[in-house]
Amino acid sequence: MPTIDIFPMGQIDDFLAYRLACCLEERFLFKFQVQRTQPFPRFAYNNIKKQYFAPAILKKTKNIRSEGSGYAIGLVDVDIYGISNNFIIGETNVSDGVALVSLCRLKPDFYGHSSDDDVLFQRALKECIHELSHAMGLKHCYNRICVMHYSTNIFDIDKKRNLLCSECLRRMKEKVGHPQGKKADDTLS
Ligand SMILES: [Zn+2]
Ligand SMILES: [Zn+2]
Repeated sequence: MPTIDIFPMGQIDDFLAYRLACCLEERFLFKFQVQRTQPFPRFAYNNIKKQYFAPAILKKTKNIRSEGSGYAIGLVDVDIYGISNNFIIGETNVSDGVALVSLCRLKPDFYGHSSDDDVLFQRALKECIHELSHAMGLKHCYNRICVMHYSTNIFDIDKKRNLLCSECLRRMKEKVGHPQGKKADDTLS
């Protein structure tokens, strides 16, 4: 069974990374390995936008992943943008099997609320499941509470659950050969 590397980059709380690894392992039935924290991704900084370019961080993630790892996911807490988006929360390079999630816009403090580690964790878990499911070949889903629903803002993220709907679950089984680890009665219809 291939392992999936998690690369914290910059200021990522260890406890959050390990908590994510446990939940993702249970969900995907792959072994997750939290790797050594990588330096802050200064190389991806755009002086004009004052944000970080996600594809550059994805490329770095691809280069540092351990040999034989099935997939890799980077975790950053800086604000990231993509080729055609002013800001993004996560991005995946499907052909390389690498994903990236930014915690920046998942933090309640970003919206002027007091910080809340549990809210941040639940949002981060949904986004990690979303991006890794892309890496494994899943596309977006129209079901608004399915984790593969395309979220454009934090309200959409809070509205969806951290589970695949039954249709996405079926597709996931086709892609990776086994279902996600949640019991069938815990899936969304
Ligand atoms: Zn997506
Ligand atoms: Zn779905």
